[in-house]
Amino acid sequence: MKKEIPYKIYLSESELPKYWYNLRAFMQKKPAPLLNPETMQPMTVAELSNVFCEELAKQELDDSTPYIEIPTEVRDFYKMYRPAPLIRAYCLEKKLGTPAHIYYKFEGNNTSGSHKLNSAIAQAYYAKEQGLKGVTTETGAGQWGTALSMACSYFGLDCKVFMVKCSYEQKPFRREVMRTYGADVTPSPSMTTEVGKKINAEFPGTTGSLGCAISEAVEAAASREGYRYALGSVLNQVLLHQSVIGVETKTALDKYGVKADIIIGCAGGGSNLGGLIAPFMGEKLQGKADYQFIAVEPASCPTLTRGKYAYDYCDTGKVCPLSKMYTLGSGFIPAASHAGGLRYHGMTSTLSELYEQGLMEARSVKQTEVFEAAEYFARIEGILPAPESSHAIRVAMDEALKCKETGEKKVIVFGLTGTGYFDMMSYEKFHDGKMTDYIPTDEEINKGLAGLPKL
Ligand SMILES: *Cc1c(COP(=O)(O)O)cnc(C)c1O
Repeated sequence: MKKEIPYKIYLSESELPKYWYNLRAFMQKKPAPLLNPETMQPMTVAELSNVFCEELAKQELDDSTPYIEIPTEVRDFYKMYRPAPLIRAYCLEKKLGTPAHIYYKFEGNNTSGSHKLNSAIAQAYYAKEQGLKGVTTETGAGQWGTALSMACSYFGLDCKVFMVKCSYEQKPFRREVMRTYGADVTPSPSMTTEVGKKINAEFPGTTGSLGCAISEAVEAAASREGYRYALGSVLNQVLLHQSVIGVETKTALDKYGVKADIIIGCAGGGSNLGGLIAPFMGEKLQGKADYQFIAVEPASCPTLTRGKYAYDYCDTGKVCPLSKMYTLGSGFIPAASHAGGLRYHGMTSTLSELYEQGLMEARSVKQTEVFEAAEYFARIEGILPAPESSHAIRVAMDEALKCKETGEKKVIVFGLTGTGYFDMMSYEKFHDGKMTDYIPTDEEINKGLAGLPKL
C-alpha cells in the first residue's frame, strides 16, 4: 500500500545530505571552460586562486568528481535550518481544481530568506580554512549579501559588500540586516575602487548594476591582503553547493515512492535551479529516468529564451574570466524589474550547455502575471513568496492548469526559493495597479549582443 503523503515531508537530521552532487561529472559534453580575459586560455586552479579560495577554485574546475563531501562544519550549520521541507500543495491543487500533484521545496526558512545561505556558508568555511581575513562580494536585491554576512559572522570573517546603489537606497532594511551581522556595506558604484571611480566619471548619477558591483568587489579583494572574492550565483561551485536542495528533494520523494514528471525553477544566474535539478538531471543523463525541466526567467531579462550561446564577460568592468553561456551581453541593462535576483545578463555555463543540448526548456513570463501568481499562492498556501520565486509558481500553476484540461495526473515539483518580506514595495506597486511589463525590443537585445567579445 502506498504511504499517505503528508502536507510537509520533513527529513530527519541524519537524512541531511553528506555529499554535494556535481552534475558536471555526469555530463558527456561538459560545459565550456572559463577563459582568462588576458590570454583567452582556460583558467587554471592557480589563476583562479588569486580570486577565490583555493578549495573553491578546485571545485570550480572539477567536472569529474561526482560526489563531493560536505565538510562537517558546513553540515553542522546546515542542521540549524535544514533539511528544508518539501511541501505538498494540497490546498493549491484543490483551489485550481487540477488532477496534478504539486510539490514545492521551500528554501525561505532562514533569516536570509532564501537558498543563498547554502552556498554562503560553504564559501565562508573554505575562506576560514585557508586562514583568510575576509571576503568581498556584491549584492543586488540584498539576499546574497545577507546570506554571506550571516555566514561570515558565524566563522568570524570580515565581509565587505558592494550593494547596487538603487537597492542600497530602496532597501534600507536589507542593509541594516547585513550590518547586524557585522558586514560593511558600500553603495556601488563607489569612490573606494578604481573601477568605481571610472564608472562614476563615465556615467554620473548612475544607480549601478550587478555587473559594476562585481567589478568593484573583485578589485577590493585583489587590493587587500588576506581577502578573496565570493559570488552567490552563476559559478559551478555555487551550483554544487546548491545541489543540497535537489538531493533532499529527491530523498523526500523517493521515501514516498513519488516520481516527478516536471521540475520547475526560476533562473537568474541559475544556481537554485541547477541545484534543484542536479540529481534528477543526473538520472536523465544516465538514461535511468526521464523528467521535463523548465527554467523560468523574466520577460524583461530573457537570457535563455532570447540570448545567444557565446563566450562573454561576467562583469561590466571585464576583469572576471569569460564564461561560455547564454547571455544578453555584459552591457545589457535590464529594465527596472522587481525580481532583482533575476536581472543578471548571463546564465551559468552548466545550465546553458544542458539547454543547448535540448535537455531543459525555458520560458519567460511577464512581471504582472508573476505577481498575480504570487498573490494567489500567498492567499492559499500562506507563504509570502519572493518575486523571483514567484516566476516558478507562475509556471507551476500554468502546468497544473494544463493538466486540468487534459486530465493528466502529472507530478509537478518546483523550487520556492525564498520569502518576499523585503519586496513589499513591489507588491505595493502591483496592488496599486502601477506595475508595468517591460519587454525589451529586438533592437535592444541586438545592441547587447553586439557587444559580445569576438574570439
Ligand atoms: C538570488 C535569488 C534567485 C535567483 O538566483 P539563482 O542563482 O538563479 O538561483 C531566486 N530566488 C531568490 C529568492 C533569490 O534570492
